[in-house]
Amino acid sequence: MIVVLKDNPNQKQLDNLIQWLKSLQLEINYSQGKNTTILGLIGDTSTVDIDLIAALDIVADVKRITEPYKNVNRKFHPEDTVVDVSGVKIGGGNFQIIAGPCSVESLEQIVSVAESVKASGAGMLRGGAFKPRTSPYAFQGMRDKGIALLLEAKKVSGLPIVSEIMDLSQLSLFEEVDLIQVGARNMQNFELLKELGKIRKPILLKRGLSSTLQELLMSAEYILAGGNGQVILCERGIRTFETSTRNTLDLSAIPLLKSMSHLPVIVDPSHATGLSKLVKPMALGAAAVGADGLLIEVHNDPVHALCDGQQSLTPEAFDELAECIRQIMPFAYKANH
Ligand code: PEP
Ligand code: MN
Repeated sequence: MIVVLKDNPNQKQLDNLIQWLKSLQLEINYSQGKNTTILGLIGDTSTVDIDLIAALDIVADVKRITEPYKNVNRKFHPEDTVVDVSGVKIGGGNFQIIAGPCSVESLEQIVSVAESVKASGAGMLRGGAFKPRTSPYAFQGMRDKGIALLLEAKKVSGLPIVSEIMDLSQLSLFEEVDLIQVGARNMQNFELLKELGKIRKPILLKRGLSSTLQELLMSAEYILAGGNGQVILCERGIRTFETSTRNTLDLSAIPLLKSMSHLPVIVDPSHATGLSKLVKPMALGAAAVGADGLLIEVHNDPVHALCDGQQSLTPEAFDELAECIRQIMPFAYKANH
């Protein structure tokens, strides 16, 4: 971190600043030029409050040289992290498709979708039991019953299951859920992230609706800093001025995140576009730019789905998508490694 001082800084304030920085175990490189005085801070600056320093009377500017995230940073962990979801590996060359309905609706529905997506090659089954809905009058999910039905589908299909947690109070219900999803709306629920850092279960962390990549990585940092290194990042589209799609899929996030961090990155083209006809082309695009996996909404009867039917694929359409992905994967892998 570099601190540029204003001309003729007050000596007492400067001494105080240097003393304080030293108390943070930082080494100070003091460099007095003709016109400008610069302090170079050497050491771990991840806990230094940059805004606090910038606000000081004697400071003209502050610049970070290293990123404020450490545990998720590829610089300190060059190898890809491989996340193990009950034996199903993702990352480090292991590509996985997570598929299933937006919401668990009945035993018949979830078992039927589980069996068909498994036959098409999905590695995990998704299904929402707690649903974050914009309207309080919309279907809110089957809650604990939904989790119980997912567990039935896991038993029948053998697929690990993925479901979204919305609040810390639900954590005990997720004991047998293989991968816990933190949705876009909870990406910055820091108390939830801290608790998920304490458990030893993989976490799927979705990018917030209007979050930067650095904010996403800082949220992942919360989980890793707590001791849980098994985190998968998910690009699911961001808010822009465009209204033709539900969100705007930021495909550039994939190669960027993969260069910034060692964590696996997957893409959710269902929520990113909101339109079933765009799911396959965007899924292919995601695989081509180096994603480690996909999250795809599949429903046995999309027209009558209780949630997100317009963006859900039929099992047949999903089968076709999975086959196309299989065909491009060897080329996509080579192109990105
Ligand atoms: C979901 O995956 O069901 C979901 C609600 O996604 P997001 O948090 O990305 O909106
Ligand atoms: Mn959905």
